[in-house]
Amino acid sequence: MTDKEKAKEFLEEYLQRKGVNTKELFRCISPEHEDKNPSMSFYKKKNKCTCFGCGKNYDIFDLVKIEYNLKTFPEQLKKVEEFMKNPELIEDINKTIYSKKSILIESNEKKEISNNLNSIKKHVLDPNNPADIERIIRYQNYIKYCMSHLKECDYLTKRGISMKVQEDFHIGYDPNFRYSTAFKKAIIIPTYYGCLTARNVENDDSNNRVRKIGTAQIFHYDRIKENPDKDFYVVEGEIDVLSMAEAGKKAIALGSVSEINLLVSKLKEDKFENKFILMLDNDEAGRKAQEVLYEKLKEIGINVEKSNLLGKYKDPNEFLMKDREKFLSLFQENQEKKIENSWKKKLYNEKGKDLSR
Ligand SMILES: [Zn+2]
Repeated sequence: MTDKEKAKEFLEEYLQRKGVNTKELFRCISPEHEDKNPSMSFYKKKNKCTCFGCGKNYDIFDLVKIEYNLKTFPEQLKKVEEFMKNPELIEDINKTIYSKKSILIESNEKKEISNNLNSIKKHVLDPNNPADIERIIRYQNYIKYCMSHLKECDYLTKRGISMKVQEDFHIGYDPNFRYSTAFKKAIIIPTYYGCLTARNVENDDSNNRVRKIGTAQIFHYDRIKENPDKDFYVVEGEIDVLSMAEAGKKAIALGSVSEINLLVSKLKEDKFENKFILMLDNDEAGRKAQEVLYEKLKEIGINVEKSNLLGKYKDPNEFLMKDREKFLSLFQENQEKKIENSWKKKLYNEKGKDLSR
């Protein structure tokens, strides 16, 4: 290993000795980014820290350059090597960086165009695989960063989703998403380790509406196993799952009608005994997909039925937005009916037979 590489690898210890918890988000190092709401994350694999807010990234040489005004690389390397030999000389980050910050020179124009997604690995991460731990921390830091900005965005609140449900689902907001000039601000919906759905909050055209990172996931599929006695609605979009949660109902989302085979293969393997109520979008593609999905699930012995509760509305979220009261009461009624039925079943000792028909 060269001297330069050794020095580069010293960054994690350097930051820790400066009082930074490298596992958590910390305040951005850039003198041009005030960052009261920590947005910077340490990235061990690259021995750099990157900011989800302004997009800048720093290695240890950039750091000492800013701290001690060292313009040339040999000077920077010498300084780092000094600290490696005498770590007790390392100064607190508040003293060398944060106290010198000035909000006045913060400027959006100076932001580099580098979107946050580039810094997140684009595949499914396995929490049981030690090699993925660092990436998971990085992914989680990004989600935490987005969650800390959620209050700045009323996109989902306007669509009838309460703050409580948004927080329960770890929804976040990335004000610096910068995917393209037409996709700069996004609601971030975590779907699985390393995977997320980003929803453009400023643009609704089909090319710039949604970006998915990682592999396709059945949203909230893991919750089925955790709730063996609950019915699950099967809907298309993640926001429809949030809408169902608003009515106190469990749901999973395909993400797209093209993922019905993914759901079928997962359920074929897991053989859950829960009841699944299909409620795909009330449009041509959705209705077709629902028929196919229904037949396929029947075939593999899943307890499945089709919902006709959407009526004239396209999807649960549209229903919730246009007639909240009716939407909520509809599922309330169904709940009561179900309790009544299960009581009748007990009374007549007719397990599994629905007496309301
Ligand atoms: Zn920053």
